[in-house]
Amino acid sequence: MLDPFGKRAQELLNEFETINDLLDTIPSYLDMELALERVRWVNTGRIPDHLLTLDDLKDLMSFYALLGALAFSPYGVEMELVKEANLKIYQTKIESSENFDELALPLEKPSENEIPKRDRTIIEKTLHKELPPEEKEEITLKYKMPLKTFLSLNEGSLKEFYIRNGYVYLNKTQVIELWKKSFEKNLEKAVNILYDIREELPQYYVELYSRLSELAREYFKERIEKFSTAAQPLHFDFFPPCVKIALGGVPSGLRNYAITVLLTSFLSYARICPNPPKRDVRVKDCINDLRVIKEEILPLIIQAGNRCKPPLFEDQPNEIKNIWYHLGFGYTLEPTLEDSGNSTWYFPPNCEKIRASAPSLCKPDKDCRYIKNPLTYYLRKLYLSKKSQGEKNEQSV
Ligand code: SF4
Repeated sequence: MLDPFGKRAQELLNEFETINDLLDTIPSYLDMELALERVRWVNTGRIPDHLLTLDDLKDLMSFYALLGALAFSPYGVEMELVKEANLKIYQTKIESSENFDELALPLEKPSENEIPKRDRTIIEKTLHKELPPEEKEEITLKYKMPLKTFLSLNEGSLKEFYIRNGYVYLNKTQVIELWKKSFEKNLEKAVNILYDIREELPQYYVELYSRLSELAREYFKERIEKFSTAAQPLHFDFFPPCVKIALGGVPSGLRNYAITVLLTSFLSYARICPNPPKRDVRVKDCINDLRVIKEEILPLIIQAGNRCKPPLFEDQPNEIKNIWYHLGFGYTLEPTLEDSGNSTWYFPPNCEKIRASAPSLCKPDKDCRYIKNPLTYYLRKLYLSKKSQGEKNEQSV
């Protein structure tokens, strides 16, 4: 199989009713070692031959097993490792293939006279007799794609591309570069879908995640800071629009949802436990002192409540107890760390729930299209910023 998000993969996935069915089947079908082999080789730089010749179902399952593991920590070293290793595996297969029909790209073949002869002569260097045939093959415009689709995949410059009548014409190298971008986007999309159902995934994926994490930490040990999305001070710039709206204060009908449900869960997880290590995590599993809640998180929640019209806590002073309840300390005003676990620490609601319960909070921006939960919006922006900072640092060395 050339592309785990392509047409052949889709046919295989159609045999399962839902993505949950596929992920439920994998543990009884696939030795976890095979999934780990997909990433373990990166240290050596050489892809083991058997990974390039796996049968389609094993290939798909071993790849999806890794995606299931990533659901427990969507943006971090683990995702970076899975992306890097699998991009190379599939790219190697694609480069040696003559047929791109299977890729998750809407490619069409141009008809013979569609490109004016003069343009072909220049672009494909047909008069350059000295060029070896393989090189000419690489620059031949064999494919085309609607411009609109192309623009959704390629955010960079259009300078290098031949565009005519609403289509972009592409040679093999350009198709492969475009496929890499679509692979990264599809991987991110799939991990976000699985993040939403991670509570339902079998224990197998928790174990796989922990082993994957060891490999990723070893591989990226020099650059671990670059991809880290561990607990750290809040970065307000990276908050999603719904959280920014809640922070600014909202009218009476929205107050309890915006402040007590959304803001309390979002700020607490984002600040102290962005990637919960297990299900039913409690605050005391992540911190050993309540000061971070009392001095950093609670003041933000109270200020946002005070910005509401009318101010939330003036109207409903007991709502502070409800905040502690949503943080997992039970309905109280003076909790101790030991009280954490007396109620459930509410996880941020996903976007679908926010849109259903408080539609006016959801004013999506362009980054919202990648995610399904406000917390992953934040983690993704944190990850992208660290990644680009890391790249700048590497360039300046
Ligand atoms: S799409 Fe999700 S993250 Fe974005 S504004 Fe709406 S609820 Fe918030």
